[in-house]
Amino acid sequence: MPAGTTAWPGVRKRMILRDDVPEHRYTPEQTIAELETSEIGRITLERIEESKAVVEIIDEVQSSTDRGAQSGKEIQIFSANNKKLLHEAQSVIHEMTHYWYHIGECQHAEAICYSMELMRSRKKMTITQEEWDMIVNIVKDAYPNLSWEGGNSETYKQFDFIRNT
Ligand SMILES: [Zn+2]
Repeated sequence: MPAGTTAWPGVRKRMILRDDVPEHRYTPEQTIAELETSEIGRITLERIEESKAVVEIIDEVQSSTDRGAQSGKEIQIFSANNKKLLHEAQSVIHEMTHYWYHIGECQHAEAICYSMELMRSRKKMTITQEEWDMIVNIVKDAYPNLSWEGGNSETYKQFDFIRNT
């Protein structure tokens, strides 16, 4: 689908600027345009388009450093914690990964979501074993209160994006 005002009608309807502030850090149009620049971004847009996910863009300064949150179909993106438009788009990719695969509340889920963010940086649908190992270490440090895997470990067998190239 070509970029422009007619593209992604579902995304445009359900990506909402929540706060009534004089100036928004990033508009939905800017975030959509950023997502269109990578394959993982375009897949994310398709998933928002096809699903009932609602993406709320929140400009209010947060007490935590969280960049996003997801609960059921509701996704919140905390723009004040995203220093660049790239990070804003990566937060949408991250939270949509939680939503789309119904994964969360464990370190393995976070590692999958951060891998999808890295796919945006790499502009590739794969990451290397070295990058995966690095993400796993970061996640284990950042989420010491979570176990490696919660729920059904079969869920994680569908992910096959580690390539040494
Ligand atoms: Zn997460």
